[in-house]
Amino acid sequence: MVVTNLNDKATLNNGVKMPMFGLGVWQANNGSEVEKAVGCAIDAGYKSIDTAAIYGNETGVGNAVKNSNVNRSDLFITSKLWNSEQGYEKALKAFDVSMKKLQLDYLDLYLIHWYKKDTFADSWKALKKLYSEGRIKAIGVSNFLVHHLDELLQKAEIVPAVNQIEFHPYLTSPKLIDFCKENKIQVEAWSPLMQGKIFEVAEIKSLAEKYNKTEVQIVLRWDLQNGIVTIPKSVNEQRIIDNSKVYDFELSETDMDLINSLNRNYRFGPDPDNINF
Ligand code: NDP
Repeated sequence: MVVTNLNDKATLNNGVKMPMFGLGVWQANNGSEVEKAVGCAIDAGYKSIDTAAIYGNETGVGNAVKNSNVNRSDLFITSKLWNSEQGYEKALKAFDVSMKKLQLDYLDLYLIHWYKKDTFADSWKALKKLYSEGRIKAIGVSNFLVHHLDELLQKAEIVPAVNQIEFHPYLTSPKLIDFCKENKIQVEAWSPLMQGKIFEVAEIKSLAEKYNKTEVQIVLRWDLQNGIVTIPKSVNEQRIIDNSKVYDFELSETDMDLINSLNRNYRFGPDPDNINF
């Protein structure tokens, strides 16, 4: 993957262009915290913001987007359908609620947040309807494993454009990544910084010293060179700026392989096959 600058985009399976780098806002409080973070990110050149209904901060994200100096069409906003709102009618309603909070007239990407056996197929039909009406530019899923995607692909007419999954040096899920590549589903990494634990990985620390970059920059660059969209979260202005400075160095093939080999199948988040929410 050629990595050039913060404007790099992945071309999704429906032709929509999605920024490779964005800001995650899980656990950013609605109100001034998330508004400042999103505003700072947009000022620093970020074009993509990842929120979700369950984060409770769509209003703040919407305010920051409205108050920014960047054209709406240059931004890429993602939100997600929460589990309790899955099902055809409920999903349509939940989408309207999110859009009202976000104060947007279209969404760039809407994801089914987690696989739910009984309701995901009807939820997908609702997303397809919203997509066909032009209210969403691309639809996708999150936390879908290979067998979940298999099930969806058997039933669905539209292949998800994106699968947003937990992905970091301790969880590289090679089979899932290969499956997504084969089916033209763009992979997006959540918790790319291992929720802040990236500083504890000795090999990443050594690479940070070698390249004179931070551990965070090393791992985000690794995502990009692997062709994986990444959305690190921070509400700290300096970190938001620093995290995006990943375009002035390149990891060698050997160092890419080294990071790729750190996998421990270790999850910081829930196992998508065993969720109780
Ligand atoms: P990340 O791996 O992005 O890590 C975020 C943590 O790292 C925060 O505590 C942040 O603190 C800290 N941090 C960020 N930059 C630095 C830095 N330069 N130095 C030191 N610490 C730093 O975790 P997330 O779990 O938030 O994942 C990213 C995004 O992915 C989420 O915000 C959300 O949008 C999405 N996500 C999606 C999920 C899904 O189910 N689809 C599940 C979980 C996340 P601080 O803010 O104080 O800087």
